[in-house]
Amino acid sequence: MAQKKITQRWLTGSLGVILVILVIVEIAVWTVVRTFYYSSAQQTLLSQANTVNTLLAKYAEDPSTDYQREVRNLVENFELRDRMELMAVDAYGNVTSTSSGFAVNEKIEMPDFEAALASPDRMGSFQGELGGEKIIAISSIAPVNDESLVAVRLVASLTKVDGLIYTVVTMAVLAGIAIIFFMLLSGSYFISSIVIPVGEIGKTARKIAHGNFSTRLEKKNDDEIGDLCEAINYMAEELGNTDKMKNEFISSVSHELRTPLTAIKGWSETILDAGDDRETIQKGMRVIISETDRLSLMVEELLDFSRMQSGRLKLIIEKIDLLAELEEAVLMYTEKARREQLDFQYEERLEAAIVMADKNRLRQVFINIIDNAIKYSDAGGKIRILAAAEGDYFVVSVSDTGCGISPEDLPKIKQKFYKANLTRRGSGIGLAVADELVSSFGGSIDVQSTLGEGTTVTIRIPNVRRYEIWQQAQQTPGKGGEEQKN
Ligand code: ADP
Repeated sequence: MAQKKITQRWLTGSLGVILVILVIVEIAVWTVVRTFYYSSAQQTLLSQANTVNTLLAKYAEDPSTDYQREVRNLVENFELRDRMELMAVDAYGNVTSTSSGFAVNEKIEMPDFEAALASPDRMGSFQGELGGEKIIAISSIAPVNDESLVAVRLVASLTKVDGLIYTVVTMAVLAGIAIIFFMLLSGSYFISSIVIPVGEIGKTARKIAHGNFSTRLEKKNDDEIGDLCEAINYMAEELGNTDKMKNEFISSVSHELRTPLTAIKGWSETILDAGDDRETIQKGMRVIISETDRLSLMVEELLDFSRMQSGRLKLIIEKIDLLAELEEAVLMYTEKARREQLDFQYEERLEAAIVMADKNRLRQVFINIIDNAIKYSDAGGKIRILAAAEGDYFVVSVSDTGCGISPEDLPKIKQKFYKANLTRRGSGIGLAVADELVSSFGGSIDVQSTLGEGTTVTIRIPNVRRYEIWQQAQQTPGKGGEEQKN
């Protein structure tokens, strides 16, 4: 389909125009050449007629010459007789002598002679077919009127001239055909260098659309088509990665949902059979509550993530105390950290930290980061949470002595669905959500980590003054757009 269209467009657009131009040029060549040859033939006849007339006038003036004999002599010995024919025409319109030697002495059709008789300048010409031959003829009334000679007539055949014109025009036509041939050759090479790869790209794109993300295009030339091949390969690679991440995400989320549900179901059954065993009932209830918390945290995270992706996440930005939210998150995890035998310490190096943010979301960010620190640490590990002020920003750092992140994974951990450590539970969207939320408060999240040694996550949130400056910059066109979702 594409092949037909591009080729067709080239045929009509470029070849068609060249063809029309060539036809016009050929017609112009034919007209110019024909006019040139015909008019030069006529010029030659005219100048000869004048020469003959001058001689006739001279003979007529000289009484010592026999006028009629001189005329016959002149006609019969005409110098240019192999190029044209000279005739003497009498008062009755008969050709009395000719340079070809065939005296006709009868009336022949001579439109030029008729024209000369009628014309005030005593000349007449004719060009066309006469007696089965194409000729050019000029008749000139003689300077002296004698009954046996009224006019001289010069006739030349146009067959040779036409032959010459034919040769020139044929050469021009051949040149035109050669031009068209080379155009076809170079054009079809050019078209095939576009159409064939475009067809392949189309096929590969359809394969990718059907889910074959491992298919690749070969970059044959370093041109625009080559760039397109590279772009399509890159697209296939990215789609493949996303598809892989999506599958891993679905499997880890299902696993994440199943684990607490299994625990809740197991403990519910145990409680049902526990009778009056208060200790078992209390232990079971505690597990059920903590597993339910875990579930709702995850579901919240998933919902937020989905709202973020579709741009439906509504933030309530107001003046709040960052420390209050941080303290609440710390409190939520103190008990859990103790149970997991972690050295969990929290330090505040400031009195108040008023920021512009969404209260619940900010707490959620802290919960996420602290949850990760606990999740990726083993018993005996240390977790330090520190809140401090740094210029126009409040900085909360959460350090752990857990498993750490490899340098290859570190740049990717903030991407959605990305999990560097597959041995721990998690959906891979916690950091992505946290990062997006903090960005919408004008802040940032920075992760530093050494594999096997530990991780420090630093959250920076601007104070009210800095937040307002940042907000203005966001709203000024060309300075980052209006991403704010409040
Ligand atoms: P998950 O739900 O898998 O924890 P996150 O988006 O919260 O997803 O984190 C992404 C990845 O970053 C995790 O899979 C983990 O490999 C790594 N990571 C995050 N925080 C830590 C940490 N404190 N220590 C070690 N690795 C971490």
